[in-house]
This record gives sequence, C-alpha cells and structure tokens, in this order.
Amino acid sequence: MNQPSLICEQKNYRLIIVLRGRPCRYTGCNFCALPSVAGGNVAHNEFHELVSLNLNKALAQVDVNIQEIFLYNFGNVLDPENLLPDTLDLIVDTCKKKFHKLSILSMDNRLEPQYGFTETRLLNVHKRLQPIQTEIAVGYETHDASIRNRVLGKGLSDKRFSNAMKLLAQNGWIARIYLILKPSLGMSDDSATKEIIDSVEYVLKVAKKIGIQTRIHMNVGYVARGTSMEQWATDGEYTPPSQATVTKAFALVQALNPTAILGNDDEGLSA
Ligand code: SF4
Repeated sequence: MNQPSLICEQKNYRLIIVLRGRPCRYTGCNFCALPSVAGGNVAHNEFHELVSLNLNKALAQVDVNIQEIFLYNFGNVLDPENLLPDTLDLIVDTCKKKFHKLSILSMDNRLEPQYGFTETRLLNVHKRLQPIQTEIAVGYETHDASIRNRVLGKGLSDKRFSNAMKLLAQNGWIARIYLILKPSLGMSDDSATKEIIDSVEYVLKVAKKIGIQTRIHMNVGYVARGTSMEQWATDGEYTPPSQATVTKAFALVQALNPTAILGNDDEGLSA
C-alpha cells in the first residue's frame, strides 16, 4: 500500500499536483491501475492536514510563471468521498494566491453525480476559482462505444457524455478529453491511427454543437501492471503502438486540434 502524499511537478508553464489520497471508487476500467496505487482509505481529516502542511512547502519550489495546473487525485477530484471539498478549496485558494498568471485549473472527474459531477459542485468550484478558468478532464477514451464500454469497461455512454458537456458549458467550464491511441485488442497501428482521428472528429463535432471549448489529450496506450490489459498483453492480444505511430498520430490530432496535449507518461505503472 502506498503512503498518502502530495507531489508537485513543474513542466514549463504547467504544474502537475498529484494528491495520493483515497482511490477512485469506480474500479471498472480494465486498463487503469490507479485505484490500486492510491493512498488507501486515509481519513479525510488526516489527508487535509497533510495537504495543509505540505502544499505551501511544495509550491515554494515552483516558478511563479505557472499558467495552468492539472490536479490529479487517483480518482475524482470533485467526489467528496475521494477528496474533501474543504481540501479542494484549500488548494484552490492557495494556488490562486500564489500564481498570478494562472489561467486554467484542470481536474479529472467521471461524469456521474455519484462521483461529485453535479451542477451544485460545478457551480461552487467555478465560483471559487473565478476569474481562473475551470476545466474538467474526462476519460472518454474512444468514440467507439463498444470498445469504450465492453473492452475498456469505462461505463460511459455517448448520451451521458454529451449531456455532461452541456452541463459543463452551462456552468462556465471547459473540457479536456482523454483519448487513447490504440485502445483495443487486435488493432494494427494503422487502424489505431484512423481510430483516434475518428474519435477526435467526433469529440470536436459534439463540442462545437454544444459550444464548449475543448482540447484533446491523447494518451498513448500502455500496459499497466495488475490490469486486464496486462493479461491481454501476456496472451499476445495487445501491443502498445510504436513510437513512429505515436508521432504520426499526434501530428494528425494536432492538425485537427492545435491545443491538443500528448500524454506519453505511464506514471511508473507499466508492467
Ligand atoms: S480510468 Fe479513471 S474512472 Fe477508470 S478506474 Fe481509473 S481513475 Fe477510475
């Protein structure tokens, strides 16, 4: 079991804050090892204290030129069972005070009310952060609902996705959408490239129709320890995309969405 912790990592103008606290309560994603490497069922007050003791210390090492912050917590940042709302408020207030050039605070979340994705929560966090832009980062993974739900176990329908995008737009949020390059078994690198382009086009079409600012975050498919994906790789059914495919696919994604982000970090979870 990993110890609860708070880590800050600066990448140019972007700051990544990783809260190793309580695990994601949705454990159904067949490719994700995050719930098993979170900080266990740490008590809320204990984790709040850890954050209040360590946040300022960690931020003291960071350049004040930070323009955006990605907040990760091994689960759902808005889920009060995952992260106490008071702890999120503390982080928001501290970051607002320290980083005068901060323009976006981005946080990962599922799109169901039971994981904190409610209008009240969206409104409260948005109000607290103003004038800094709130962004939700959503694992949509692929436009192919069968791969998304039957293979990856994501449990996210297209209807929920578009309704959630509407709710975000109505409450002033923007969206960062995770897509996986090569999300399934039995897929060649060429078909994976076509697949992610189809996914980008679909997401951008939905976003345009709804009128929500959206950027794509292309994650490279990899094999995380202790997941079904690891079993598929062991059985020879899944191989991650080659470096050449990653480069080619990301160039095509960027041509469609110039603000796209490449996520090629396995966070030390590869098998
Ligand atoms: S991908 Fe997200 S929702 Fe799925 S298990 Fe991992 S942290 Fe939870």
